[in-house]
Amino acid sequence: MQGRDNDWDEIEAFRDTIRRIARERIEPLAAELDRTGGPPQRQYDIFRETGLIGLGLPEEYGGGGGDLMMQAIAVEEMARVCSASALTMSLGWGTLDPLVQFGDEVLKRQIIPAVAAGEKKTAWCITEPQGGSDMAAMTTRAVREGDSWVLNGVKRFITNAGWADWYLVVARTEDREFGIFMVSREDPGISFGANEKKMGLRGSPTADVNFNDCRIPADRVVGRPTGGLSRMSQSLAHSRPVIAAQALGVAQGALDQAVAYVKARMSMGQSLSRYQMVRGQIGDMAIRIEGARALLYRAIGQALRRSPDARALASMAKAMCSDVAMSVTVDAVQLHGGYGYLEDYPVERMMRDAKITQIYEGTNEIQRLIVAKHVLQD
Ligand SMILES: Cc1cc2nc3c(=O)[nH]c(=O)nc-3n(C[C@H](O)[C@H](O)[C@H](O)COP(=O)(O)OP(=O)(O)OC[C@H]3O[C@@H](n4cnc5c(N)ncnc54)[C@H](O)[C@@H]3O)c2cc1C
Repeated sequence: MQGRDNDWDEIEAFRDTIRRIARERIEPLAAELDRTGGPPQRQYDIFRETGLIGLGLPEEYGGGGGDLMMQAIAVEEMARVCSASALTMSLGWGTLDPLVQFGDEVLKRQIIPAVAAGEKKTAWCITEPQGGSDMAAMTTRAVREGDSWVLNGVKRFITNAGWADWYLVVARTEDREFGIFMVSREDPGISFGANEKKMGLRGSPTADVNFNDCRIPADRVVGRPTGGLSRMSQSLAHSRPVIAAQALGVAQGALDQAVAYVKARMSMGQSLSRYQMVRGQIGDMAIRIEGARALLYRAIGQALRRSPDARALASMAKAMCSDVAMSVTVDAVQLHGGYGYLEDYPVERMMRDAKITQIYEGTNEIQRLIVAKHVLQD
């Protein structure tokens, strides 16, 4: 389904469809997924069955061809009830973006259709133990040996590590050059660390990926074996609005919960929703969410138009939506009083899930550096 610029009826109909799937099928599983940890196999199966798993992949490779607006709306609605599920649904779209944009046809045909069909899962491997923000300091190496590339190094905090079938890996190929490689879980020399115990997003697996003389065929390099960092930066700029949408969804979900709670809860003889201080807080949460949504949709509009401002706007939207997610979820817990501190109420999980959106896909400090560079034009 394609999202045309002003076709809001189509977009809102699409939103209703996703909301129904989220409410009926994903929300009932959310608390249990958080409690038991991943991998989110049942959720993945639902996304495969409904075709959502391939939504953000090109139609020519069996995907849904949903543009960035469709992807953001699907993720927003899913994260409104379960952030880990929203990430599970969308990870393949962003992970394969460098392959879609820069890969050669044979490699695309080998990998994308199976991911779009929900037969294979993906992960992307950029971050390393010594730092994620400084991509140029990466030490994982890929060395050409005859008809193979041989990879050595460790990637940290990798979503879907051990669960995914395909790993998009950024590795140093020369002193100042990096390449992007597709590594299969079946390749010799790849192994996985233990699942990390996290504050939030517990339903999504996160672990180290180790490469010890990991040998892959030479044709698994994505495009040229140089220029990988700039290609990754382009792909990250493309996928950042989707992470912003995840944050926005968490914020909206927390507001939904807070509204229901303050209407039902009585204090000093009347509903909490009648107190001016509570009403002010609810109003303020809604203003922050709508402000973040407006910025996100503007960023997406500029990305669809391929505007030169798109990268900076994507960073603005990622920082703003995730900051709003954090502040709104904290407010939602506060409005629940002591009950907000219990696992029995979704706002407790939402507050923990909000935090990661300020950290991954480039921390919000890094987003501010990108924005400042654009504004200062240096
Ligand atoms: C649950 C989870 C899932 C993740 N999934 C993936 C994944 O699938 N693939 C992947 O590759 N990575 C993944 N990450 C890693 C994530 O992207 C990194 O954690 C993030 O980029 C930050 O890197 P770091 O943790 O090494 O922090 P650092 O880079 O060490 O930063 C530490 C702090 O210093 C600040 N800082 C760093 N440099 C500067 C600077 N120049 N100016 C100002 N402040 C600065 C940062 O903003 C941060 O506050 C995941 C992380 C988590 C927790």
